[in-house]
Amino acid sequence: MRSTRLLACVPAEPMSSSIASALGNVRQKLAEAASAAKRPAPRLVAVSKTKPVELLREAYDAGVRDFGENYVQELVSKAPEMPDDVAWRFIGSLQSNKAKTLVHGVPSLACIETLDSVKLADRLQKAMDDLSPRRATPLGVMIQVNTSPWEGSKNGVLAEEAQALAMHVVVKCPSLRLCGLMTIGEPGNLACFDTLRSCRDAVAAQLGVEAGSLELSMGMSGDFEAAVAKGSDSVRVGSSIFGAREKKA
Ligand SMILES: *Cc1c(COP(=O)(O)O)cnc(C)c1O
Repeated sequence: MRSTRLLACVPAEPMSSSIASALGNVRQKLAEAASAAKRPAPRLVAVSKTKPVELLREAYDAGVRDFGENYVQELVSKAPEMPDDVAWRFIGSLQSNKAKTLVHGVPSLACIETLDSVKLADRLQKAMDDLSPRRATPLGVMIQVNTSPWEGSKNGVLAEEAQALAMHVVVKCPSLRLCGLMTIGEPGNLACFDTLRSCRDAVAAQLGVEAGSLELSMGMSGDFEAAVAKGSDSVRVGSSIFGAREKKA
């Protein structure tokens, strides 16, 4: 690893133990929230945007395999620095013209959680078609739903638009697999999680599949326990694991 010299400058012990212990803390809270809700523990996605690969490795060594990243270039450069069995999840805003860079640059990309247009779905399908050698498995996608449109700031389709996009993926994009729906929601407004859940139920009914076959990705550092109570299958936790992020300039 390129990182050894860098790490030699700082005391490795407190750094590694702080990520491992933060993770232990989050896992414990997740387990408690899941057991209170009488549900299986959801997937814990460690959101590592802006964090150096050294810290991702600490998390990997503490057992994390699901990592979430927000920026295409950052993910494409980090992926080869991490072991092959990492299941990368892209959770940032994705422009259609970056679809190919992302799909071709990250062989172990498990899921893009921020699908928000037919155009992007078609570009992802095309990127999969152009891949050589072809992937053995379809690329997972989740539809991002804007459950707080009054905020005017969040990406994603409106809840009532999700069914048409889901149908497009299932019918027209054979190399994509619709895994579920994702939302951020308004901080502190738990009704956003209910909105995602009913949107998921409506999509499943229209597709004629069990609601449980479509996952709900909801819950971040500030609200993952509440999200689990509301039925989350996959939580995206960054700062509670890796510490606060520098504000983007
Ligand atoms: C950054 C980010 C997260 C993690 O946020 P924290 O509050 O640090 O846990 C989760 N989901 C998305 C979409 C993000 O962009």
